[in-house]
Amino acid sequence: MIGVLDLQGDVVEHLDHLDRLGLAARRVKEAGDLENLAGLILPGGESTCIARLMAEAGLDREIREAFQGGLKLWGTCAGAILLATTVKGERPHLGLVEMVVERNSFGSQLDSFVTQAVVPAISPEPLELVFIRAPKILEVGRGVRVLLRLEDYIAAAETDGALVTVFHPELTPSAAFHAYFAAKCGVPLPSETSRTIGGWSGTSWTRYSSLRR
Ligand code: GLN
Repeated sequence: MIGVLDLQGDVVEHLDHLDRLGLAARRVKEAGDLENLAGLILPGGESTCIARLMAEAGLDREIREAFQGGLKLWGTCAGAILLATTVKGERPHLGLVEMVVERNSFGSQLDSFVTQAVVPAISPEPLELVFIRAPKILEVGRGVRVLLRLEDYIAAAETDGALVTVFHPELTPSAAFHAYFAAKCGVPLPSETSRTIGGWSGTSWTRYSSLRR
């Protein structure tokens, strides 16, 4: 089963994508909720807030331990910041993926945008990429594979144990990233599930065409 860290941020959007893939999922609010999970998604939101709540619940230590024991992790946006070993100008949080990130690297909330790119490891189709007050991955260490490089930064990367994206696949119609993460976790998709499933009824701000570029 895959869990979604449910302390702050876009939790339901991830649960919704897993559900559309026919995958069982669990909200993770306290240490015991990690039991028997194959993977855990750290959602987008506010990394400082999630980090504080994680520490209060003792989940930071538990997640680190579970990761050493084989739990796969996927951090989207704030979640990616939580996983980085170096956060420019600040102290790191979980520090499990060797990379340097810079928070709010595109500017303010108003500089949020939507773009498209092919991420070959994930899907041959171009995917919509939603950046909301996103960080940039400036550098990755040895053992970290770059999945998508754009302009002067890295937007997606992975290690054997973790996936990081600075954008939000959970806010787009495609479930390709969720399917990819499930495979990384060794969780099989029900055979009837296709990766470009319909039925997504997201009504987020990303629909506003003025934000597209
Ligand atoms: N700006 C947020 C942070 O630094 C991340 C934003 C997001 O997750 N969309 O934590």
